[in-house]
Parts: sequence; structure tokens; C-alpha cells
Amino acid sequence: MRSLTFKLVLAFLLTSVPAGAPSAPSDVRRGLLRFRFVLVDSAGVVVVPFGRYALGDTVDRDEMTRGTPVAVDGHTVGIVITPDLTDFRNVAENRYLARTDAALGIAAGVMMGVALVLGVLLARLITRPVRELTTAAQKIAAGDLEQRVPVRSRDELGVLAAQFNHMSADLFHAIQLRRQMTADVAHDLRTPLTVIIGYLESLRDGVLQPSPERFAMMYDEAQHLQRLVEDLRTLSLADAGELPLSRQSVAPQMLLERIAAAYHLPAEQQQIALRVQAESGLPNIVVDVERMIQVLGNLVSNALRYTSSGGEIVLAATRQTNGVELAVRDTGAGIAPDVLPRIFDRFYRADESRQQQPDESGLGLAITKAIVETHSGTITAASAVGQGSTFMITLPSA
Ligand code: ADP
Repeated sequence: MRSLTFKLVLAFLLTSVPAGAPSAPSDVRRGLLRFRFVLVDSAGVVVVPFGRYALGDTVDRDEMTRGTPVAVDGHTVGIVITPDLTDFRNVAENRYLARTDAALGIAAGVMMGVALVLGVLLARLITRPVRELTTAAQKIAAGDLEQRVPVRSRDELGVLAAQFNHMSADLFHAIQLRRQMTADVAHDLRTPLTVIIGYLESLRDGVLQPSPERFAMMYDEAQHLQRLVEDLRTLSLADAGELPLSRQSVAPQMLLERIAAAYHLPAEQQQIALRVQAESGLPNIVVDVERMIQVLGNLVSNALRYTSSGGEIVLAATRQTNGVELAVRDTGAGIAPDVLPRIFDRFYRADESRQQQPDESGLGLAITKAIVETHSGTITAASAVGQGSTFMITLPSA
């Protein structure tokens, strides 16, 4: 009965063969091959073969338990086993797969090659600015300071290249200034020394007779030397950030009035009006009073030097957003626009041919600027030739 039922199932399966299914037994087997499964009876004997399972083979218990039982009237009459289809590729399929594998392999190889070449090219392109920067930095380290690198982009590397150029230009300028300053120091020290030594030799050898005028001349030159050495010391301390300041809170007006009092007499002698103009209710500033007096003194003595009689010097104090502005305004000769940016440079004198006075070292404004900056302030100058100059110092309020 059971084998009859099984045969019926088998007959059903056979009739399920798709249209055009063969009718002869061999054709039936070939037709059955279209089903991608193995049908075994309840004893495990292959009834519908497929793949490595031949007709009549016995399938082991394990495989049977993995299959799907075919039950008729509650009785298992057979088991459908679905084998791993990869085991059953035909020659054409295998060839197709092999060709696909080979094509994929070649494509992967070509892509890797292209990626490698592109990678190397890109890496060279990206590292080019870095290499240029490295070469320029090495040349600077070797003493060749005038180095510029091309700015090729606006990204971080472009910004770095621009900053490098800026830094290298600043460095070049600083070294030039230092060389110039060394030469100027040597020159400015030599001149008074030569005068003093010349006089002393002549006095010692009896060529010149001692006189109060000659001693006064030597004294002036020695004072000039002392002032120069003191100025250089102040500048070097400011450069090193070691300029000692004993700060105290003071009213800006008090500073201006002290300066006006100190320069009252020379101004009067030169017939120059000197007056203070301070806004009322100004906040205090925290400064080293003596250093600030030195700063304002430099500015006023310059103003007196370049202002003719009948002129005026105003010491003004005004409120600013973050502090106070102290200004020294004169109606003197003024400064030419091409000279103006250089007046704060060390040893810069607009008129080298002019006879130097003992209190002129060409360092006055450089020291003024250094002291103001040590106070976290700023100093600027504005001028119009023939109309006068204004020096403005901005200091943070207390
Ligand atoms: P110095 O000690 O020789 O006066 P400074 O550093 O004080 O040197 O000044 C530098 C130059 O700035 C001066 O040589 C002068 O040409 C110019 N200068 C400074 N102050 C004034 C001013 N009030 N009016 C015109 N020129 C000025």
C-alpha cells in the first residue's frame, strides 16, 4: 500500500515535469534532472536522481534527516533532499564561472594598478608644496635667507606657504636691520670716541692747552656716549621682554602736566606755546611713570627740535574705546610720507646731513615705541609736511 502511494507521488512529480517533458523512460530521467532535488523512498533509496545521487543509491541517515519528508495519509513515503547546487554545475557553467573569475581577477588587477599609479601621482602632487617648503627651510637654515615658495592653492598648504614667505621676509628684514644696527652702533660710538681721544692726545702732547671750552666739548661727547650706551641697554632689555616697569595707577592729565612743566622753559626760550588739553573724567592708566615721562619727553623734545618759533605744541589726552590716547601735536616741519613709516626704526634719521646734537641718537622713537609696547600700548604718527606732526599713544585704562 505504502509503495503504491509512493508511486503515486512519484507519478505526480513526473507529471509536474514542465511542458514538452519527455515520455520515454530515458527521457523521463533526463526530464527529472530538471528538478533540482533528490527523491528517496522511506528506506533511503534514490528514486529521483540528481547530481551525484544516482538512481538506486542509498542515502545515509544524516542526509535523510536534513531532507523534507513526503507524507501521505500521515505516513512518510519518501524524502526530498535539496543538495548544494554548486556541486552540480555543468561544463558550460563551470567554463562561464572560470571566465567570469578570470575577468574579475584581471579587472581587479588593472584597477589596483590604476589606483597605485593615481595614488603615487596624487601623493607627489600633494607633497610637492611640502617638499618645496622643506628645501626653502633648509636653505634658510644654511644662511640663504631670501627664500620664497610658490603659493599654489588656497587650502591649508597654500596658507602655510604664504605664512612661510611672510616669515622669511620678516626674518630677512630683521637680519638686515640687525646688521644695519651693528654698523650704526659702531659708527655712533666711534665718532664721540674719536673726538675725545683726539683732544686727550693733543692735551697730553701739549699741542693744545687745557681750557674750560675744550673740557666742555669732551664732556658733551662723553655724555653722548653714555646716552647711547644707556639707550642701547634699554632697547635690548625691551627686546628681551625684561624692561623692568614699576607700574602705578595715574591720571593721564598728571603725566601731561609734569611734562609741560619740565619743558616749559625750553619752549618759552624757543617762543613755542606748550599747552595741555585733557578731556575731563578720563580713566586712570597703569604705567611706569618715569618710563612714560621718558616717552613723552622724547616726543616733546623732537617736537621742539622740528618746530620753529611762533609754533605750538599741544599735549592732549582723550578717551578711547579701550583706554586713553595721549597725543603730542606740533605745528612744525612735518615728516615726508616716504619717511614716515621708517621713523620708528633704530638709528633712523630723516636728515643724515644735519649736524647731530648730543641728545640725538636716532634711537629716540625706537625706544619710545619699545617702552609703549612694553605697556601693552601702541604708538602711531601722522604728519603733513609744513603743517606739523602728531604722535599718538594708546594705553589700556586701569
Ligand atoms: P633722534 O634721536 O635722532 O631725534 P628719533 O628716533 O627721535 O631720532 O627720530 C627719528 C626721526 O624722526 C628724526 O630724525 C626726524 O627726522 C623724525 N622726527 C621725529 N619727530 C619729529 C617731529 N616732531 N617732527 C618732524 N620730524 C620728526
